[in-house]
Amino acid sequence: MLRRTLIAAAEQDRIRAAVQAVPATRAVVARFVAGETTAEAVAAGTALAAAGLRVTFNQLGEYVTDPGQAAQTRDSFVALARRLADSELAGPGSELSVKLSALGQLDGADGAARALDHARLICAAADDAGVLVTVDMEDHTTTDSTLDITRALRRDFPWVGVAVQAALRRSPADCADLAYAGSRVRLVKGAYREPASVALHRRTDVDLAYVRCLRILLAGAGHPLVATHDPRLIEIAGELARRTGRGVDGFEYQMLRGVRDGEQRRLAADGFGVRVYLPFGPQWYGYFTRRLAERPANTLFLLRALASR
Ligand code: FAD
Repeated sequence: MLRRTLIAAAEQDRIRAAVQAVPATRAVVARFVAGETTAEAVAAGTALAAAGLRVTFNQLGEYVTDPGQAAQTRDSFVALARRLADSELAGPGSELSVKLSALGQLDGADGAARALDHARLICAAADDAGVLVTVDMEDHTTTDSTLDITRALRRDFPWVGVAVQAALRRSPADCADLAYAGSRVRLVKGAYREPASVALHRRTDVDLAYVRCLRILLAGAGHPLVATHDPRLIEIAGELARRTGRGVDGFEYQMLRGVRDGEQRRLAADGFGVRVYLPFGPQWYGYFTRRLAERPANTLFLLRALASR
């Protein structure tokens, strides 16, 4: 595992350098990633807020097994929260999206405990700024640990949210557990390649599971965060929310930076809460390749940019 991570890290550095060297490919990355620095992320967030959109900042990085690097990620999030506190982005229109594996969750037997400690400090800084925190969901081997850590965080910070992946067979049950008053659940399809024993693979099955989870969350007492770009699911969510008597304040749409930007603005103009996931930082490779994998056209776009050098 460690060896694989180290090899991957070396590869990432090489690919990152190659992509950075070509302005056209840098632009492809910039569509999805707000920049490498906190200042760039805050500038992008300020522009989104000016357009009536909410923001969730994600300091990129994952599967960290170096305790120093995990502490660095924690410190970056804390610094970001303090910066937001002193800006027009203070308040619940801003959120931090945190990957626990970036805080060392998988680093040995006490990794989860240390990730919890780091996440607590991030939540405390977010609390001071009045901004929210949602815990990203990673591959299925981490689901139980991530839900446990979220539960522990919520004892002190009851506004902490968590993502649930509709593709996982367990998710309807997780949604039912999480649909209580005050909870914030971000429902996503799921971005990780998972074995069929734990996850649905056919797109229609995943879409049906998404609707099933959506129904559970919307019928519950929590605050559902409908994170998808899928036009049909966006429409279904709006219709189900209407039928369950939720106003536009009873749930929120969420989308990724660089994906269906026009739809983000259209929904916001129609009065819905829309939050844009804004990833930033030097460790953009894993996130970027997942966005390429989701849509072959993105890969073609990158290859064309590389060919044009
Ligand atoms: P799809 O069926 O994949 O896409 C529907 C349509 O959206 C496509 O036809 C296309 O028009 C457009 N689209 C989708 N993706 C792209 C793309 N990359 N480039 C261009 N167009 C695209 N996953 C996790 O596993 N854990 C998380 O914590 C997590 N957090 C997320 C937070 C937010 C705010 C969002 C929006 C997604 C998150 N995801 C997360 C990713 C999610 O699981 C999906 O991989 C991703 O959203 C694509 O699925 P979709 O629902 O948009 O549907």
